[in-house]
Amino acid sequence: MMSDCLFCKVIAGDIPSDCVYEDDEVYAFKDIHPKAPTHVLVIPKVHADTLDDVDDAAALGSLMHKVRYIANEVLGLEAGYRVICNVRSGGGQVVFHLHVHILGGTKLPF
Ligand code: 5GP
Ligand code: ZN
Repeated sequence: MMSDCLFCKVIAGDIPSDCVYEDDEVYAFKDIHPKAPTHVLVIPKVHADTLDDVDDAAALGSLMHKVRYIANEVLGLEAGYRVICNVRSGGGQVVFHLHVHILGGTKLPF
């Protein structure tokens, strides 16, 4: 837990969020400014600033396995979906707690 991290505060419940799934490793919640009918963020409970800060292949594999599970079994995105991970400022990352976007619920334009 990083006391000055927005998403650590979300995990702790200090900032309200619309949770769709939670387990020991991840917390998944609706993006506050959705870019698609379904827009969910999946975050590991252990803080890491960016994707580049996690060297544990098993942890990254587990994160993506959970993303797939949440997209299909929790969100029911049977037509398909998009997974995005913005990495550092050049990649458009604004919140520096590793997160994976799941977008779906429409035919994504590009
Ligand atoms: P990034 O650009 O860092 O990949 O994406 C950060 C995302 O977090 C953005 O899509 C933004 O809308 C979302 N976001 C920022 N602050 C909050 C918040 O307090 N609650 C929720 N649910 N989403 C947030
Ligand atoms: Zn954090």
